[in-house]
Amino acid sequence: MFSITTSTPEETLNIAKCFGKHIEASTLVLFYGDLGAGKTLFTQGIGNSLGIKRMKSPSFIIASEYEDTTPPLLHIDLYRISTQREIDSLEIDNYLRDGFAVCVEWSENWKELPKDHIKIEIKKISESTRQIVFSAFGQKHEKILSNIKEDLANDYAIN
Ligand code: ADP
Ligand code: MG
Repeated sequence: MFSITTSTPEETLNIAKCFGKHIEASTLVLFYGDLGAGKTLFTQGIGNSLGIKRMKSPSFIIASEYEDTTPPLLHIDLYRISTQREIDSLEIDNYLRDGFAVCVEWSENWKELPKDHIKIEIKKISESTRQIVFSAFGQKHEKILSNIKEDLANDYAIN
């Protein structure tokens, strides 16, 4: 587990772009944090690093699929979803099996989580300060996150 504190949205976006370079097929990234923490912004940074120019905020559409990138990306927002049945109907497992990287906002609403994932918790410290806490579960995701940490350590103060 490690954390980075940012003081501007641009800084968070740059960290997300660096993070995104390490994303592989079937990587699951679960976001936690309040409204306005920066979950969508971070996901957009990941998308940008894969070559997606404009990403929608999925809040009203629940799931957005980007198929033309390597790996393809699924962006999910569970804000309006709470039952396991609704979550099951999104078939996230199938996307992961098909090689999609999957970013999930409002993971607080997902109780029966897959064991293997990277967790990103974004805490609002002030209007423009965020503490971003990274942790990984399962060998594959631990390896990816340790590479990300090494890369980020070149440019940012890591705690
Ligand atoms: P969420 O998806 O978590 O609800 P968004 O990514 O949509 O949040 O919005 C985050 C908001 O916080 C944006 O308006 C962004 O400009 C603002 N912001 C201010 N400071 C930061 C920072 N250090 N990191 C990320 N976002 C920040
Ligand atoms: Mg959001």
